[in-house]
Formats: sequence, structure tokens, C-alpha cells
Amino acid sequence: MPQKVGFKKAFLDLIFPPRCPLCDRFIDSKLSSYEGTDFCSECVSSFKPVTSPHCTVCWVPMKGNIDENHLCGACADNRPVYKEAAAPFIYEGLIADAIHQLKYGKKTHLAKSLGPFMASLAKTWITCKGGLITMPVPLHSKRLRERGFNQSLLLARQVAGALNLELDYLSLRRIRHTSPQMALGMKERHENVKEAFEVVAREKCKGRIILLIDDVATTGTTLNECAKALMAAGASEVFCLTLAKAAL
Ligand SMILES: [Zn+2]
Ligand SMILES: [Zn+2]
Repeated sequence: MPQKVGFKKAFLDLIFPPRCPLCDRFIDSKLSSYEGTDFCSECVSSFKPVTSPHCTVCWVPMKGNIDENHLCGACADNRPVYKEAAAPFIYEGLIADAIHQLKYGKKTHLAKSLGPFMASLAKTWITCKGGLITMPVPLHSKRLRERGFNQSLLLARQVAGALNLELDYLSLRRIRHTSPQMALGMKERHENVKEAFEVVAREKCKGRIILLIDDVATTGTTLNECAKALMAAGASEVFCLTLAKAAL
């Protein structure tokens, strides 16, 4: 941080001591903020990470005594089109609250504090990937008008910025207005988002590896439908990254 900005921040912190946006506690030296976020360390330590064993493809947490990751039954029966869908956290507790506040409470500033967790996982997880393009799962224009922003784009911006990746939020479009997936059963989820996406700029995808970003993955159906559209447009591989993964 340049010295001038550092001084200004220190001065402002003195007059308006920073509070954690999740628990509203003042952040002092004992409750120092997690690097790159505005959250206090107590809130961050309550976030439940996805740990091994999890599915090697969809990252759903698995039960068992062994630590080794392996393919889950659902992925073995019906292999997703995407290569892998990673997430730093399980969708529960304060991380679920944070996503809820970002999406429905319109607290868009939270993306700045949530993005670093995704970026930090992406840095260790994505080892290849020259020429990788980051794309958010798009909202339908009707939903975008209602909400005013796409939370996945806000997160994708943070990830692309931290990893210095190209960001493309125009080529993949949602062409059907769909019900929120969370409210539906397993079977309806698939029908709901089936063929809901299209790629409008096929030449952008051809031969490229795509990093698809969303806030939450439940069954992974939405991610898979996006991946189908991207692969049909000539993408070479699709990796997915969400902030949280629902434990089914
Ligand atoms: Zn806190
Ligand atoms: Zn799986």
C-alpha cells in the first residue's frame, strides 16, 4: 500500500474504527481482520471449509474414514460436463448469511471480502492455465433488472483481478428466466435450467479453458448446463469455482 493511502486509512480507522460486516464487532488488534477481507478473525474461523474426503469432480463432502478424495455416486452415474467444481466453504452458518446479505440484502461491498477466499483457493487449485477466461454464471435480464447486479460477476471480478485473468461476462447468456434453484427438488432443478444458457460469441470460447464462477453450488445442475453451452461452443475445458458448496 502506498504510504499516503496507508496513512489516510490509519487516520480514518482512528476516527471510524472498522467493524466486521458480519458480527458488527469492532476490529481491534485482538480481532484482527483476515488478510484481504473486512471480516474479523472470529467470523472467518467459523466458516466451515470443504475438507477431504470430497468428490474429485463435484467436491461434495463425503463420509468415511479415509482422507483420500474419490468420485461420488452421482458423478459416477452421470459424469458432469465440467471437469471439476471447487469451493472453499460449505454452505452453512455465517458464510451462508454473508451470501444471503450479498444477494438479497444488496450488500455488494461484501464481494470484496468474499472474493479473496475464492482467489486463494484458485491459486493453489488451478495450476495450468495459460489463457484461462473467467466467466460468471449469468442472470436473466429480468432478474438483473430486479436485483440491479449479478453477485457472480462481483465475485468473478475479484477472482480475475487477484489472478490476473481475462474476465468475460458477455459471451455466456441466460436465455430463459428460471425459478431460483434453491426452492426446487432434485428433478425440477434439472428441468428448470435445461438449455437455459447460450454462448453468443462462440469464437471467444473456441479452444479456451473457462473458469466459471457462481456464489453457491447445490447439485451443480446450473454449472453443468453452463458447461454444456460452453463446450458446445468449442471450449476445451470448463472448471467451476463457487464460494460455497451445499452439503447434500
Ligand atoms: Zn466478525
Ligand atoms: Zn461428485
